[in-house]
Amino acid sequence: MKARLPPKTPGNPGIFNGRSFPGSISFSRFELPPTRGGSPAHALVRGAGAALGAALDLLLPPECLVCEAPVSAAGLFCADCFRATTLIADPVCTRCGLPFASAGAAGRDGICASCAAAPPRFATARAALLYDAGARRLILPFKHADRPEIAARLAPFLLRAGAALLDRAELLVPVPLHRRRLFARRYNQAAVLALALGRRARRPVLVDALCRLRPTAPLGGKTAAEREAALDGAFAVRPRRAAALAGRCVLLIDDVLTSGATANACASVLLAAGARQVDVLAAARVPDPRGG
Ligand SMILES: [Zn+2]
Ligand SMILES: [Zn+2]
Repeated sequence: MKARLPPKTPGNPGIFNGRSFPGSISFSRFELPPTRGGSPAHALVRGAGAALGAALDLLLPPECLVCEAPVSAAGLFCADCFRATTLIADPVCTRCGLPFASAGAAGRDGICASCAAAPPRFATARAALLYDAGARRLILPFKHADRPEIAARLAPFLLRAGAALLDRAELLVPVPLHRRRLFARRYNQAAVLALALGRRARRPVLVDALCRLRPTAPLGGKTAAEREAALDGAFAVRPRRAAALAGRCVLLIDDVLTSGATANACASVLLAAGARQVDVLAAARVPDPRGG
């Protein structure tokens, strides 16, 4: 299923119309299109789903896409989250998805300076949200406050940003946590996100394809070479999962993309294990690639 934004029109029935962010889409309402498939049976199922949705709307007042504030209709942001949330939109680096301040900031080939200097191992990376105040409202409790259910709020944003990548993906694989961190957090947020996406996009998820062999220190402030060295040998493909990866187009899922070094290290081991291609989809990305 692909998500789409509605056209930007003054008459769009959202709470907030016409506001634009630098490097982002102006939006007022966020909705998913009907599922593909035009048979009468499909239409019946869709009709029943819509009726059920309408009945639930009567019972449960619609909530903001990000927080639990009530809004007038499903698919809207509350005032605070609308101001704080930035969707990533073109122009972005065609390889790593880094947002450009303007179309002129991209080189003639459409890639950023980092990708030109050292092309990543992954084919394409995209993220849904800038990692700003709005994204932190979702991602910090998702990571640190035992709130796995937030994956359901993030998934529609990823479906929209990663529609093309999900279309070609044959298998979703989450970035793994080291087992000590997994024990402390109780769940791997990237795996929970991958499962939520896999269900909605009807793609298989291999939650344990990768493992993190050792914990890694934060990468912030390190140079590209130092990040690569810090991650050398940190990830591996589980041998019993290698057969499932062979020849497949894999979509690696993470919560936050920073420098892309972690995604790159994971892509390397997936490709070495036989994956045909690796793309990356994250809920958010840090705008400054030197951030870590
Ligand atoms: Zn809100
Ligand atoms: Zn790039």
